[in-house]
Amino acid sequence: MSETVTSRLAGFHKLSMVARHEKLAQMLNLDDADLAQLQGIGALQPGLANQMIENAVGTFSLPLGLGLNLQVNGKDYLVPMAVEEPSVVAAVSFASKIVREAGGFTAETDEPIMVGQVQLTGYGDPTEATRKIYAAREALLALANSFHPSMVKRGGGCRDIEVRVLPAPEGPRGEPLLVVHLIIDTQDAMGANLINTMAEGVAPLIEQLTGGRVFLRILSNLADRRLARATCRIPLEALADFDMPGSVIAEGIYQASRFALADPYRAATHNKGIMNGIDSAAIAAGQDWRAIEAGAHAFACRDGQYRPLSTWHVDEGFLVGRIELPMALGTVGGPIKVHPGVQVNMKILNITSARELSMIFAAVGLAQNFAAVRALGSIGIQKGHMALHARCVAVTAGARGDWVEKIAELLVTAGHVKVEKARELIASLSEEDFRAATGTEG
Ligand code: NDP
Repeated sequence: MSETVTSRLAGFHKLSMVARHEKLAQMLNLDDADLAQLQGIGALQPGLANQMIENAVGTFSLPLGLGLNLQVNGKDYLVPMAVEEPSVVAAVSFASKIVREAGGFTAETDEPIMVGQVQLTGYGDPTEATRKIYAAREALLALANSFHPSMVKRGGGCRDIEVRVLPAPEGPRGEPLLVVHLIIDTQDAMGANLINTMAEGVAPLIEQLTGGRVFLRILSNLADRRLARATCRIPLEALADFDMPGSVIAEGIYQASRFALADPYRAATHNKGIMNGIDSAAIAAGQDWRAIEAGAHAFACRDGQYRPLSTWHVDEGFLVGRIELPMALGTVGGPIKVHPGVQVNMKILNITSARELSMIFAAVGLAQNFAAVRALGSIGIQKGHMALHARCVAVTAGARGDWVEKIAELLVTAGHVKVEKARELIASLSEEDFRAATGTEG
């Protein structure tokens, strides 16, 4: 790196995109090829897309923004975020700025332990089948690891087995379910493929040991042994805004937390806000965001009721936020080393391990949530949201270039952020103005 990486880039949003690229290139040693990726010039080529998925007919783009100001465990991170929704990037950056001034986020993460499931049927007595499987623990571990010796060499691999006997669900056949869990350390990989290979690999031995028949052999996306946690502690004075003292803003945030804890209808929206940040960062970093989503929501239901993934309370003059959720991420595997845009984003993230990435994502989720509950618990989100949404409305109505901002401002001033109003505004322009606004020949 040519200069220290800081995520505190004051005035970044006011720079042209070219100037933003220059700033990034300087700070992160990005080369012309990296910049070409950001500019969309060297983006994912149809030939590569054709190798990545089936029936490929092209590629599809999303805006890529940078979450700024994030500091986690004393280190600054710039967070690439791929998202179509206005306000997500601004919210993370805004919240992270308040948190960094209060000392930044503190985060931790579990070891990269995942579960592979093997479903056994027709095993006879569940206690006896369980005993036989545990008795063969060493043989099962050795067999699982024989399918991926390189993972063992780098310190990972199958570490343990567990047998679970689950009550039979309602249905015509009453056999309890017997599920063997392979407990696998996937190191810097999300791990799905290697887990599935191991789960399929041990199935014949489990059948042989028990006389049963194996059906499903696949990882679980409820990665509850691979949790990431982030916390922040903000002095109440730092929350003062909208002509309200910090204590009142904090009370609104606390009430938002209580609401989400008590009510799944609210918790779903609370968690959607968290995933706005995490999914955007996950897409940009080439992660399987469906897996992250599945894990997050299953974890949110762990005590039988759907709950918020983050909570807030006031403690001796500080607002304290905490988030905890499964984070099955990789710095290798899937599209990570294949997709050229992901590689540039990984450079920008400047991380060394999947665990480091997990902590960043947890902090991004908490930052996103902070921005949402801060507005929701005080003036509401529509004011800020509509100002950003207005740009999208202006573009939909046909505005282009500098005029997007101008029409958006007029829409907000008029208090009427609607496409039809934007069309009306464009139509009221002189012919010359109209050409400038829409980039057309009139
Ligand atoms: P890959 O199989 O693509 O890659 C992981 C491999 O990378 C490892 O097996 C390992 O192979 C190699 N590797 C190199 N360096 C490291 C390191 N430091 N730590 C760990 N591994 C390393 O990916 P995953 O197994 O992670 O699977 C993720 C993919 O699976 C995603 O694309 C996901 O979408 C998909 N998937 C997800 C499912 C789900 O979530 N339910 C189901 C099925 C697929 P080696 O040891 O040989 O070098």
